[in-house]
Amino acid sequence: MGATPADPGAFHAWLESREPGRWAATDFAPRARYGEYLMDLVDAARASNSAILARESVVRLETTPRHVDLLLGSGESLRASAVLLAPGLPQARPPWRGLDDDIPAGFLVADPWAPGALDGLDAGQAVAVVGSGLTAIDIVSSLRRRGHQGSITLLSRGGRLPLPHVGTPVQPTTYAPEELAKGVLPALRAVRAAADELASRGLPWQGAVDGLRSQTSATWQAWSADERSRFVRHLRSLWEIHRHRAPAHLLQELESQRRSGTLSIVRGKIHGLTVLGGQLQVQVQSPEGEGVLTVARLVNCAGPAQGIRQTIDPLLSSLLHSGLGSTDDVGLGLRADPQGRMLRHDGKPNERVWLVGALRKGDLWESTAVPELRMQVAQAVAGLAPLL
Ligand SMILES: Cc1cc2nc3c(=O)[nH]c(=O)nc-3n(C[C@H](O)[C@H](O)[C@H](O)COP(=O)(O)OP(=O)(O)OC[C@H]3O[C@@H](n4cnc5c(N)ncnc54)[C@H](O)[C@@H]3O)c2cc1C
Repeated sequence: MGATPADPGAFHAWLESREPGRWAATDFAPRARYGEYLMDLVDAARASNSAILARESVVRLETTPRHVDLLLGSGESLRASAVLLAPGLPQARPPWRGLDDDIPAGFLVADPWAPGALDGLDAGQAVAVVGSGLTAIDIVSSLRRRGHQGSITLLSRGGRLPLPHVGTPVQPTTYAPEELAKGVLPALRAVRAAADELASRGLPWQGAVDGLRSQTSATWQAWSADERSRFVRHLRSLWEIHRHRAPAHLLQELESQRRSGTLSIVRGKIHGLTVLGGQLQVQVQSPEGEGVLTVARLVNCAGPAQGIRQTIDPLLSSLLHSGLGSTDDVGLGLRADPQGRMLRHDGKPNERVWLVGALRKGDLWESTAVPELRMQVAQAVAGLAPLL
C-alpha cells in the first residue's frame, strides 16, 4: 500500500517508524492511519515547495495548445502546463431524494465522510445506514469506536456484506485469457470451476478471485459493450462483495453485534420519511413487506454514482458538454488512451490532461484500489514531465 509502485512497502515502513512492531506487513491498518501517511507525503512536498494545496473546486477546464486553464468555484482560475484529473466518481444522489422535503437536515447525513457527520448522537440512539459495503462497515466501526451502543440497521437492496479476506496469502488462480474474453457467462463458469477446484483441495475460494486481478482490464476490454452492460446489470453487486473484501476480524465483530441484537441487516429500500416524536421514521419496502425503522439519524453509505451520463457534477458535465471529455459505451466514466490521456469527443487525446482513478472504470473496470492508482499516477507523471 505504499504510495508509489517503486516502494510498495513504504506504508508499512511509515507505520513501523511510528509504532514499531505494532503492525505486520499483511495486517489491515485503520484507514485513518493511511490518510495520515498520505498527508505526510503531501506536507513534505509542500515543505519543499514542490506542491501547493488549494482548497478549491474545479468547475471547468479550458485547453490551449500550451496550457490548461482551471476555472474554480470561487471564480478564480489557475493556469497549468498539464493537469492530472483524479476526482473519483461523483456522489450519487441520496437514496431519499424526493422524500426529504419536510425532514429537518439534522436527521439525514448525505455524505458520511463530511466533518462532524456522526457528531451529536447520544450513545444509545438508533441509527440507520443505507448500504452494506465497505463504507457502511467503516461507519459502524467508527460509531462503535466512539462508544455508540444504540442499535444500528444496515439497509441495502441486496442485504449482503463484503466477504472476508483470508489471513494468509493465497496462491491466485491462473486463467487462460481467451476463456475469460469469451464473455460474462464463460468467465463466471471459469471462476466457479476454479473456486470448486480450490475447495476440493481445502483451499480458500479467494484465490480464484485474486487470480482475476491481473487480467480484469484485458478481459473487460475484450468484452463487447453488451457484455459489459450485462455484467454491470447482473453481476456488479456479486463482484463487489467478492472483490472488495473486508478484514475477517471486522466481519466477526459485526456478527457478534448481530447476535447481541445491536446490529441488523435489512434488505429493502426507502419509500417514505416522516418525523414523529422527535425521531425519524424510515418506511422501508422489503421483499418481506413494509416496515418502519425509528432512528435518530439516517446515514447514506450507498457509494458513488454508478455512471456519469446524467451527472450534475459541474466539472464532469462541463467536460462532456465541451467535448474535452467523452464517456465510455456503458457510461461508467471518462475515456482515456492507454497512456491515461483523457480522450476528447472526437476520440483524440488531450495532450495536456491525464485521468487517474475511478473515472477510468469504463475503460479498465479495475481502477479504484491503490495498486492500480499508483501505477496510473506514475504513468501520467512520466507522460506529462516533458511538458513542464
Ligand atoms: C471503506 C473503504 C475501504 C477501502 N479499502 C481499501 C483498501 O483496503 N485498499 C485499497 O487499495 N483501496 C481501498 N479502498 C478504495 C480507495 O480508498 C479509494 O478507491 C481511493 O481513496 C480513491 O482515491 P482517489 O484519490 O482516486 O479518489 P477519492 O478518494 O474519491 O478522492 C477524490 C478527491 O477529489 C476531490 N474532487 C472531486 N471533484 C473535484 C473538483 N471538481 N475539484 C476539486 N476537487 C475535486 C474530492 O474532494 C476528493 O478529495 C477503500 C475504499 C473505501 C470507501
